[in-house]
Amino acid sequence: MTYQITTILLLAFSVFMLTTACEESSSMDNNEASERPEYAIALHGGAGVISRDIDDEIRQEYVDALHEAIRLGRDMLEEGAEALDVVEQVVRLMEDNPLFNAGRGAVMTNEETFELDASIMDGRDLSAGAVAGVTTVRHPITLSRLVMENSRHVLFARDGAERYADMMEVERVDPSFFHTERRYEQLRRAQERDEVRLDHSGEQSMNPGGHAEIDDAKFGTVGVAVLDRNGNLAAGTSTGGMTNKRFGRVGDSPIHGAGTYANNETCAISSTGTGEEFIRHAVAFQISAIMEYTGASLNDAANQVINGKLQPGDGGIIGVSHTGEIAMVFNSPGMFRAAADSRGRFEVAIWDEEENLD
Ligand code: ASP
Repeated sequence: MTYQITTILLLAFSVFMLTTACEESSSMDNNEASERPEYAIALHGGAGVISRDIDDEIRQEYVDALHEAIRLGRDMLEEGAEALDVVEQVVRLMEDNPLFNAGRGAVMTNEETFELDASIMDGRDLSAGAVAGVTTVRHPITLSRLVMENSRHVLFARDGAERYADMMEVERVDPSFFHTERRYEQLRRAQERDEVRLDHSGEQSMNPGGHAEIDDAKFGTVGVAVLDRNGNLAAGTSTGGMTNKRFGRVGDSPIHGAGTYANNETCAISSTGTGEEFIRHAVAFQISAIMEYTGASLNDAANQVINGKLQPGDGGIIGVSHTGEIAMVFNSPGMFRAAADSRGRFEVAIWDEEENLD
């Protein structure tokens, strides 16, 4: 009898403890959920050697451009826009700004031409689109989206991509539209450097007078990663590639898994830096895979890849996770970047983690 009463009491106690634990954990889930941002966006305007002695006026131009882009994205998300639309519209805005190495303002190839690359990815179903080496398309990000939504393929290159642009009737421009004096001077400097390199001269003489405060011979790409109110992730990247590039060189920007990746289960990522290294290390996919296979946070996964796999100076990523976590991780001296979310986070930065040029 005593034994039975003890058993009943023990059982009742266990049920009580279990119910309380469940209630606690469900209220924790609720708290966690309510702390999560409803939407989040991060963007970059390229990573690289950005001197802190950069002219105040030029610095302000970049800060203003980053503000304009992040405001557009945040306002669209606030109003309930879809992740893909936000990615496309924000990248388009940046493609039109000659400060960035994408669309107008793209860097020049060795032959003084422009060859633009872009990609976009939808985290809902891993659908993806990209173009490489387009020469007359004003907004390569839009053509990438059309490849994703209207073709059976993922990536069209060069003449084929131009023909696809004919079919899709996207806005075309004469290649001279992309020309800016600044990029022409950069090409000249890069070509001089090649000669200097052949002479085995030092870094100092490669940069006569130290005037290239933003050494974007390799960098300056734009990219956006978004979580929308519906919990969908998307990412996009657009670039002119590398100054002085030759022979149809294609970097990571139009390569899903390297320059761009989005998966609703993990994160959305856009990369910027030495494209060859980002391709070798499948940077964007690797971050997503670390999250998926180990349960790591976005920032942990991004740090493992950017600071553990790449070499210092290679570049960085911006990303947003499915829980609204934002990462902006780089191993170069600077990365033009901005972030915002539904909880009021709003920041623009170029150098250290701590700064906010808001
Ligand atoms: N990743 C780009 C490329 O290699 C360059 C950049 O990020 O600026 O083409």
